[in-house]
Amino acid sequence: MQNEELKKLWKDVLAEIELNISRANFVTWFKNSAIVEKTDDTVTVATNSNFAKEWLENRYNKYIKKALDKFSPGIKNIIYKTETIDKIEKFQVVSEKEIKKPETGKVKKGGTLTESLSKSSQDPDTNLNSKYTFDSLVVGSHNELAHAAALAIIDNLGTKYNPLFIYGGVGLGKTHLMQALGNAVRQKSKKINIWYINTERLVNDIIGSIREQTIDEVKKQYKKIDLLLIDDIQFIANKEKTQEEVFHIFNVLYEANKQIVFTSDRPPKAIPGLEERLRSRFEGGMVTDISLPNYETRVAILKNKLKDKKTVLPEEIVDYIAQNITNNVRELEGALNTLLINFEVKKINPSIELSKKLLEDFIKKPKKMVTPQDVLKVVSVFYDISTDKIKGESRRKDLVKARQITMYILRDLVKLSYPAIGEVFNNKDHTTVMHSCKKIEEEKIKDSVLNNEIESLIEKLSYDVFN
Ligand code: ADP
Ligand code: MG
Repeated sequence: MQNEELKKLWKDVLAEIELNISRANFVTWFKNSAIVEKTDDTVTVATNSNFAKEWLENRYNKYIKKALDKFSPGIKNIIYKTETIDKIEKFQVVSEKEIKKPETGKVKKGGTLTESLSKSSQDPDTNLNSKYTFDSLVVGSHNELAHAAALAIIDNLGTKYNPLFIYGGVGLGKTHLMQALGNAVRQKSKKINIWYINTERLVNDIIGSIREQTIDEVKKQYKKIDLLLIDDIQFIANKEKTQEEVFHIFNVLYEANKQIVFTSDRPPKAIPGLEERLRSRFEGGMVTDISLPNYETRVAILKNKLKDKKTVLPEEIVDYIAQNITNNVRELEGALNTLLINFEVKKINPSIELSKKLLEDFIKKPKKMVTPQDVLKVVSVFYDISTDKIKGESRRKDLVKARQITMYILRDLVKLSYPAIGEVFNNKDHTTVMHSCKKIEEEKIKDSVLNNEIESLIEKLSYDVFN
């Protein structure tokens, strides 16, 4: 494909995505991105920072995939990588020959492919991915209750814990556990009707079917399900119409003794704008959480992954990863993969020195601090508003919002005192600052878009400063 064609394709894809996500997120994550390679079934999307690459891969892959399907059907894989800005600007096309270079193959094998590749093992009847099994799930004190509840359900569908509600932070194994349950039931009997769905998709489906007046059809389909697995139910926050339909589907299934399982990043009572009747339904069965794995479990997870990949690493390196990456299993896996890919591609013997160097990106160095200047800059780029205007006096709505968010982050992340924050804003009175912080705190709970934006900003700040 010619550069121009790649540009056109990416332009179409972006136009589509822009409709579906907030402008600030769109600008931040897609600003310096491009399709730099394309074969019949694979597209390579490049961006100029590791962080943006991760966001595209982890948060926006779905959107990108969907839009690509529309404009270039047949794309099965999307590879994400980082490139220099020069290359991105050129949308340089790599020749057929180069695509076949062995190194590309290696990187692929190492795991830079997105989730979409593993879609090949996704069962269209259930939506389940066969890679998630109980065998590959390490059980530790952090997840043993949730694990036990899931196991107990296999032979007692709809009767033991219904619904089962599993909550816990990002990357701690909720999806894995839920799908392992689905796969185990599937293995037991093909007659049991299982359906796994992520709430973002469920919401889209429901909204779409209401628009197309096919909601009754959709509900009829759902009524046939024996085991319904709904992942990330927190995304239902503030979506009234969807909540109503989910409530209806839930009741029908529940009354017919069909099993329902939810996961969420927070407990039911902390999901903003959740109707009372739904909340009490969610809490009506068994609510259990997954917390952070301890050191021993982290080591066990790493060893398990190594066994899966039929490879080994010196004990010292495994220990180093487990000691330093503590708050998320996905990152633990990411760190391990980074090391394995590097050792493999560079054909070098694993050493602890090199491991430390390679993992610098993963391991945050707590010595560095986020400064007020960092916060102003990140907010300014994110909302495309100059720092002077953020610090200024104008009461324009968008400026006030950016200003209050900046104050909130200075308080929440940087832990500045109210008077100290006032100083950053040309000596504003500390009561004004207090009022702003309180306002954002309250609105954040009600407004999930705002909440997302603040999370993005905080993540970006933490990342920028530690890298
Ligand atoms: P969540 O849904 O909670 O965000 P995931 O289920 O997607 O997290 O898990 C993130 C990654 O970590 C997945 O690749 C998963 O297989 C892996 N993982 C999480 N917990 C475990 C565990 N206890 N044992 C093995 N792998 C795990
Ligand atoms: Mg998940």
